[in-house]
Amino acid sequence: MTVRVAVNGYGTIGKRVADAISRQPDMKLVGVTKTRPNFEARSAIAKGYKLYLAGGAPQAPFDQVGLPIAGRVEDLLREVDVVVDATPDKVGRENAHLYKDAGIRAIFQGGEKADVAEVSFNALANYDAARGKRTARVVSCNTTGLSRAASVLLSRWTIAAWEATIIRRGADPAESDRGPINGILPKFDLPSHHGPDVRTIYPELPIATTAVVVPTTLMHVHVNHIRFTQAPKDSSEMLEAFRSTPRFHIFAPWEGVDGTPQVMEYARHRGLGHQDMMENVLWEKGLKLDGQSAYFFQAIHQESIVVPESIDAIRAMFDLAPDGAHSIAITDRTLGIPAP
Ligand code: NAD
Repeated sequence: MTVRVAVNGYGTIGKRVADAISRQPDMKLVGVTKTRPNFEARSAIAKGYKLYLAGGAPQAPFDQVGLPIAGRVEDLLREVDVVVDATPDKVGRENAHLYKDAGIRAIFQGGEKADVAEVSFNALANYDAARGKRTARVVSCNTTGLSRAASVLLSRWTIAAWEATIIRRGADPAESDRGPINGILPKFDLPSHHGPDVRTIYPELPIATTAVVVPTTLMHVHVNHIRFTQAPKDSSEMLEAFRSTPRFHIFAPWEGVDGTPQVMEYARHRGLGHQDMMENVLWEKGLKLDGQSAYFFQAIHQESIVVPESIDAIRAMFDLAPDGAHSIAITDRTLGIPAP
C-alpha cells in the first residue's frame, strides 16, 4: 500500500516533512501548500513538488513571478489519504474542518493543544497508540526530546521525580524578526507547559519543567535531574541505555564537542537532508549517576527532531509496519539517521 500524503504549511517543519515523505517506500508526496510566493515556494517547484494555494491566498502573486499553481488546498486534499498540517501554532486547529470535510486523516504538530487530535504521538514512546487513528498530534520538539528520553528510562528503571530546565533557542535560524538578541528571558509560567505536555504521552510521569529563552538559533538544551526509586547501577549503564536506542547520538569526550555549535557543525558536515540533527544529543561527560540521582544534558535540534516522528505517525495510523521498531528502522534508513 502506498499512502498518498499532502503537506499543508511549507515552512521550517513542513518542507523537511515533505522531503522525508518523498524518500519513503510506502508513501507518496502529492503536493504542498503555500500562502505566498517566496524562496520556499521556488525551491518546492525546483524539487518537483506540486504547489497548491492555502489560507485563502490569491493566485495572482504566484502567476506574476511564474510559479505554477496546481489548485487550491481543497483540491489537494481530495487527492490524498492523509495530510500533515505544519502551519503556524493554532492554525492547524482552524484547518481541522478542511480535513474532516475531505474525509482524510490528519497529523498536527506540537503548536496545537492536545485535544486537536485523538492521540499525542512519539514513535519510541507510544507508537501503538496511534495505530488506526484518524488524527494524531506529533508533540513539540522539546516534548519529543523528553518523551524519547523517558521511553529509555521508564522501560528499565523507576522514577520518583524528574526536574528539567529547558534552555530554549530564541528563534529558528531563518526567523530574523524574533529574539531575544541579548539577555536571558525566564518563562514565567511555572512550572512550564512542557511537563504536562509530556504527560499527554506518559500520564503518570512525575516530571516538572521550567524554561528560559536565550539568544541562540541552533538548538535547545535540557538540563535534567532525575531521582530514581529503582536506579541504574552506574553512569555507564545509563549511558548504554541511551546509546543502544535509535534516535540518540552520544558524543565522546575526545570528539571535542563542547556545546551546540560543534553539534550543528557536525550535523552540517554529516550532511543529512537539511544538514539536520534529528537525534537527541547527549554527551558522555554530560551524564552522571550519583546514588539514586542522575544528571544529564541533552540538546534538541528544534527544526528537525519531529520530522522522523511525523513519518512514523503516518505509518502507525495506516498500520504500514508490524510495530514501532520496524517503522523507526525504515524511517531512519531512508533519512540517513544512523542505527544504534
Ligand atoms: P513556520 O512559520 O516556519 O511555517 C509555517 C508555514 O505555514 C509558513 O510557510 C506559513 O506561511 C504557512 N501558513 C500560514 N498559514 C497557513 C494556512 N492557513 N494554510 C497553509 N499554510 C499556512 O512554522 P514551523 O516552525 O514550521 O511550525 C509549524 C508547526 O510545527 C507549529 O505547530 C510549531 O509549533 C511546530 N513545531 C515547530 C518547531 C520549530 O522549532 N520550528 C519545532 C517543533 C514543532
